[in-house]
Parts: sequence; structure tokens; C-alpha cells
Amino acid sequence: MQLPREVIVGKGTLPRVIEVVQRLGLSGSALIIAGPKSCEIAGNKVRDLLEQTGMNVDTLLVETATIRDVMMVEERIKAWKPRVLFAVGGGTKIDAAKLSSARQGVPFISVPTTLSHDGIASPLASVKGFDKPYSIMAQAPLAIIADTDVIAQAPWRSVISGCGDAIAKFTAVKDWQLAHAEKNEYYGEYAASLALMSATLVIQNARLITQENDEGLRVLLEALISCGVAMSIAGSSRPCSGSEHLFSHALDMINCPHAMHGEQCGVGSILVAYLHNANWKRIRDALKQIGAPTTACELGVKDEDVVKALEMAATIRPERYTILHKLKLNYEVCENVAKTTQVIS
Ligand SMILES: [Zn+2]
Repeated sequence: MQLPREVIVGKGTLPRVIEVVQRLGLSGSALIIAGPKSCEIAGNKVRDLLEQTGMNVDTLLVETATIRDVMMVEERIKAWKPRVLFAVGGGTKIDAAKLSSARQGVPFISVPTTLSHDGIASPLASVKGFDKPYSIMAQAPLAIIADTDVIAQAPWRSVISGCGDAIAKFTAVKDWQLAHAEKNEYYGEYAASLALMSATLVIQNARLITQENDEGLRVLLEALISCGVAMSIAGSSRPCSGSEHLFSHALDMINCPHAMHGEQCGVGSILVAYLHNANWKRIRDALKQIGAPTTACELGVKDEDVVKALEMAATIRPERYTILHKLKLNYEVCENVAKTTQVIS
């Protein structure tokens, strides 16, 4: 089980990079992985701070998280031989840094600039170019330094996506319980409770999650970090990724361009909560309150694509048993589910 050793969350916490590297005993060289924008917002500052500690710092800009990006970062790691990587950015930069550092046996520190999904603290990386559309095991961050002043500069839509990804844990845990009951799959009560608590906290604090309120960002940040820790404890994405995630992956495959990951998982969670006989209206109402999409139209996808995605979702990951694998729904039933939950009209 790999867990972060330092988690620093709050307003104006970026300068604490210095005390974190000192406490962890890091010296020598560091490599910062950032995007052009995240470099401007936080990467350059992290570089200055690290240089103040006497570290030699190199920065590599990446735009996407594909196998090619991961290999490019690995080449730089081999050449620069950093003691630690800093991943400064949203999902893609963190994913590229997470997988490349894991493959090269170097620790990484997560400095999120957006909160669009739970990858900021998880040991899993979502990288394009592998034959599977879902995330693969890499390594957990050694530390997380999340400054809400930095995160507040990201588009609000990314916060909404992060909320959708957190709320989706309701159905992810239901699927995990189902797999435990019917397929005797390993189930970890503690990891499941942690993931569920994250979803509950976001729902209970939905009214705080507004652009004017720093407290709401903090709630979401802590929820997403807890989700990452839940996956580290479980040793897989099980507590945080169920049939609603398969629905989102299916939608990605059908639709290009598609909506954000957490937005799709939120809508997926409404659909599969209904199939679990769970309180799907509570999920929908929380998403609505936050301003997240709850319909195909709001996701910007066609009604029929939502139905198709729900129908094909189980085929994406046959070994991960969920309610969709149990029920084996045909197109007509999927259409009825989407209509009943008002995801399509
Ligand atoms: Zn997710």
C-alpha cells in the first residue's frame, strides 16, 4: 500500500514546497512536468522555490498524456536523473508524470492546478495509446501540495467535473459490493467507506461549491484526495470506478469530442443508481445544485449515444463485474432507463 507522506491543502500553500522537500530530505535535482498554462500559473513559482532550496531544476512541458508523452518524460528522467518529479497541472500532466516516474523508479509530488477528477492523488494513471481506455496502476504521489488560490484560477467547469467524479463513488461502491456478494471479489470496508464519505461530503456541501466560496473548493479537494487514498488502500480503482465510469469510457469511444470525465461519470451515476434501486434522484439533484450536467443535452451528446454507451459499457471491461454485467441490458431497456431518469427526453 502506497500512501502520500505529506498532504498540504489550503489557501496560499504553494510556498510550502520548500518545507516539504526539506522534511522529505530531497536534494540534488528535480524535474517539473507542466503544461504551458500550468507552468505560468504555478510551475515557474515551484521552480523558484526549489532553486531557493539549492536544487537544480529542469522543466519539461507536456500538452497531453499519451504513450509518446510518457516516453518523452522517461527520456528526460534518464538524462537529467532527478531525485523527484513535480507534476504541476491538471489531469494529463499529473498522469504523464505519474506513469513515467513510476516506470523509472523516481517519486513524484502532485501539485494540482485543477480539480477535474480524482487522479490528483490516486496511484492510477489514465494514458492514451494503450489498448485499454481505463486507467492503469502507476504509483501514488509522495506528497500533494494543493493551493486553492492556484486552483481557483482554473475554469469553473473543471470543478464541476471533479464534483461529478466524487459523487459517482456512490455507484462505484454499490458495484463493488455487488461483485463481492455475487462473485466473491475482495471488498475492503475501509476503502469503500472512504470513497463513500467523499461522495457524501460533496453532496452535503453542494451549496458551498460556488465560484465565490473558497470553502467549497477545499471540500472538493479533500474529497478527491480521499478518493485517491481509497484506491491506494484497495490497490485498485474499484472503490472509485464502477459501471458509471464504464459508461463514461463508452461515451468517449462513441463521441468525439465528448464532455469532461467527471461530467459524464455524474450522468452515468444517475443511470446506474436507478439500476441498483438506489436513490438516483438524490444524485441528480446534487449534480443539478452544483450546476453539473444531468441530461444528454447538457453533456452535449445525442440521446441515442447515451443509450448506446449504456448498452456497450459492460463490454469495455468484462472482468470488472458491475450491475451492467449482471443485468445485460439491451438497447430498448437502456433507452427506458435513460428516459425514466430524464437523462434523455
Ligand atoms: Zn473518475
